[in-house]
Amino acid sequence: MALRWFFWRPIWLGCLLLTLIACDEPGSRSPRVDTGGVEPLSLETRDQLLSFVSELEAEGERSANGAERSASFARAAHLLEQSYLRDGKTVDAVRAEDLWKRASAAAPGSCETALRGLRLSAFLSGSSEQISLGLEGSRPTLTEPECRARLDRSRAFLRGGSEPRAQGPTDSAEQKGEAPRGVVAAQPDALEVDATAEITGVETLSAQDSARVVVKVTRPTRFELGVLDEDSAGGPRLYVDVHGALYQGQRVFEETGLVSRVRLGHRAGGTRLVLDLRRAAYHRVFYLPHPFRLIIDLSVTAPERLTIPREIRRVVLDPGHGGHDPGAVGPSGLREKDVTLDIAHRAAPLLAREVGVSTLLTRDVDVYVPLDERAARANAFNADLFISIHMNSSPDGAARGVMTFVLDSSRHESEAQVAARENASTAAAAAELANSLSGIESSSLRAASQLFAELLQRAAGASLRQLYPDVEDHGVQRAGFYVLAGATMPAVLFEGSFISNPVESRRLSSEAYRQRLADALVNAVRAYKEGRH
Ligand SMILES: [Zn+2]
Repeated sequence: MALRWFFWRPIWLGCLLLTLIACDEPGSRSPRVDTGGVEPLSLETRDQLLSFVSELEAEGERSANGAERSASFARAAHLLEQSYLRDGKTVDAVRAEDLWKRASAAAPGSCETALRGLRLSAFLSGSSEQISLGLEGSRPTLTEPECRARLDRSRAFLRGGSEPRAQGPTDSAEQKGEAPRGVVAAQPDALEVDATAEITGVETLSAQDSARVVVKVTRPTRFELGVLDEDSAGGPRLYVDVHGALYQGQRVFEETGLVSRVRLGHRAGGTRLVLDLRRAAYHRVFYLPHPFRLIIDLSVTAPERLTIPREIRRVVLDPGHGGHDPGAVGPSGLREKDVTLDIAHRAAPLLAREVGVSTLLTRDVDVYVPLDERAARANAFNADLFISIHMNSSPDGAARGVMTFVLDSSRHESEAQVAARENASTAAAAAELANSLSGIESSSLRAASQLFAELLQRAAGASLRQLYPDVEDHGVQRAGFYVLAGATMPAVLFEGSFISNPVESRRLSSEAYRQRLADALVNAVRAYKEGRH
């Protein structure tokens, strides 16, 4: 099992930290740690932020007044935490931890600084259990009853005992005696049980409130799902029988997050995969056809989370490709992976500053992230929108223009061809995915994706035509994109321009044009948030 902790851990822990910080009532913060009206994410670049943090730190060191000194250190620590959540750089979290300690030392008895510092220290230690234990150990040092109550609330939240968004299946299962709900997509066409299939790997991406388990099988197999609810001995768990597929390898994997353990065992000519869960969860099971992978998505919140007016607090930008996968390459050598990352880097701070949404990038640097991990990251982030950023390519060098895709069955072969290229699959596999998911995707989610795609097309046209009136608008299209499969929020794939077209490739080399594409993303999110249609 290749756990990609290197990239994955900071992401879900970041979400957890964010949740913990947001766990307290907004009004309960001590004025001494007020950030002074400074919106941390308005500091556009990392350099700006770090320089401001250093100023605050120096200010704290100069001050003879304990409360002022504490306030300066606390503001600096807060900004560094925000920076850590944005950039995922551990060095920021470690420095924030030190600053919280100094803030506490300068103003003993300040509940806010003490709690924030304790939470961060505990958080840096790793799993939610360790965080909870760390907080428990700190209880005696907090003397105010109100402060202790806040500590206890944080711990209860970590245990899942007082989850603020308690819409999960645990409640309904207890109240109605029902098993947790879930959906399973259509089975692949593998009617003959194929005894030669083999499970070659199982990957688990387990966050606090959601998880994705990917089972790699050498060829299409049929599968069967079973669920045991929370009251069963051994706690809530879910199992999948993969028919006709054998597995040789490690049989038990301990995990952190929603999935506590993954077990594999031989069963009736196939393999049973058991997922032990820390809490009952909604599930959704589907497959990606080529190469064949079973995807098991789990979430403690109900899949339907769309609200009107639209609450857009978190947006995931997914810069296409990366690392060993350059994506499409233009006639002059321009690589799609570099353009998509640059556009995401341009859009993210603007989204924070101008639209007031938190942004997560599925990759922040030039690394390869598998397609089946990207939507899982968006799910773990509880994102309200998922935007996969790509540049188009065609053997026809004259092809040009902008199009936005939603996940659906293609109407034209040309649409499926784009998905095939982005999936690194065949057009038939793209069509198969779209068909197999058609039974489990909710219509309201589809409608929301379609609406956002239309807004994005409109925003891109308006933004690019200010520079180049000849930009072609190809509208919203549909195809079976692997990267969008399983996203629990409205999700689109944006093909910003044709990198294969000499003219558009030259434009994509310019900062001004890339900025226009980034502006288009920002304007579309704003329009969507404001309820335009
Ligand atoms: Zn691409």
